[in-house]
Amino acid sequence: MITEDLDIDHALAPTVAEINLAHLRHNVRLLQRRAGTAAVMGVVKADAYGHGAVPVARVLREEGVRHFAVATVPEGVHLRRAGLTEPILVFGAPLPEYLPACVRHNLDVTVDSPATAEAVIRTARTVGPLRVHVEVDTGMGRTGVSPTGATAVVRRLERAPGVTVAGLYTHFATIRDAFVVEQAERFAAVVAELGGEVPAFHAASSGTLLSPPTHFPLEGAALVRMGVALYGIYEPPDDEAPALRPVMTLRSRITHLKTVPAGTSVSYDRTWRAPRRTRIATLGAGYADGYPRALSNRGEVGLHGQRFPVVGVICMDMMMVDLGPPGTVSAGIGDTVVLFGEGGPSTAEVARRAGTITYEICCGIAPRVPRRYHDAPSSPPLFPEESV
Ligand SMILES: *Cc1c(COP(=O)(O)O)cnc(C)c1O
Repeated sequence: MITEDLDIDHALAPTVAEINLAHLRHNVRLLQRRAGTAAVMGVVKADAYGHGAVPVARVLREEGVRHFAVATVPEGVHLRRAGLTEPILVFGAPLPEYLPACVRHNLDVTVDSPATAEAVIRTARTVGPLRVHVEVDTGMGRTGVSPTGATAVVRRLERAPGVTVAGLYTHFATIRDAFVVEQAERFAAVVAELGGEVPAFHAASSGTLLSPPTHFPLEGAALVRMGVALYGIYEPPDDEAPALRPVMTLRSRITHLKTVPAGTSVSYDRTWRAPRRTRIATLGAGYADGYPRALSNRGEVGLHGQRFPVVGVICMDMMMVDLGPPGTVSAGIGDTVVLFGEGGPSTAEVARRAGTITYEICCGIAPRVPRRYHDAPSSPPLFPEESV
């Protein structure tokens, strides 16, 4: 018989992602204030960017969040089975065969094209009622109906029995140049064309909300769709972003320790050789945990408040760190090492060194890495003057 032994899962994994739910609370309160009259939609796709969709959604709900979004139908079903009763929007363009499950599990559908609108109307007639958000492609070039066709699609859906048009939205391709204004204007034109009977509309994701207000031209939006900012790993293009706190810290442990003579090579393909007599720590983490292999000979980790370089090629399940000549740092078998987060490099730094973005780092942390949840600040408030 196979049984689940959660103690072993959680206690005996060398690499653990610590999830600081107090930081999540701090971030969502800050974003709610920033959003003004718009409500925060909690974007919990990709298992809440690797943080765990169910615990994250539970905390967001406690903080007053009443709208959620995921990427796929199974992600939405997962939240329904966990007891979430609030509206859940599925961002991904639905294939027609997904729609009956959206009826059954009360998931809001993105209408990304006139063809999807027809499939929705058919499903509502034959299976059961559907709520939809119509997406307008104002320049993202991914999904959405064209700005010129949007009004007709909205009106047709509104007349269809069993269909509720709960929203109208667009997604920005960039916040870093004037194109954001162009997109906003295209969207505003659709909103204006719909006149007084426009459904609740929304356009901002984290970058848009956190950019200077001149870049946030959509007065009257009902929702702001918050993903990366909730998790405290938004990388601002300028210094104006508010003080978000990183929610995830990735830690691993020293599982092997040795002193090697100068010239010793470390790991596959011998890409690194000890320049002097030095101590090498082997950690129980590798690219199969989601630590990017691109950080081979490039990454740094935190140990007892100091930083040490990753040396040699990162393996599937292990990686090596140069602790310097004996005596540089006191380190022992079992010691905890910070791969990113509090006590080590920031997620943003790790992403930069790996040539990617924070999103990919966090949602790439593998399922075999247990998530360990804390709901109290791990340290005194970072910004005690803030009234959150
Ligand atoms: C993922 C996503 C978001 C959230 O984006 P962040 O940059 O993480 O805030 C918002 N809207 C859509 C359509 C998305 O796909």
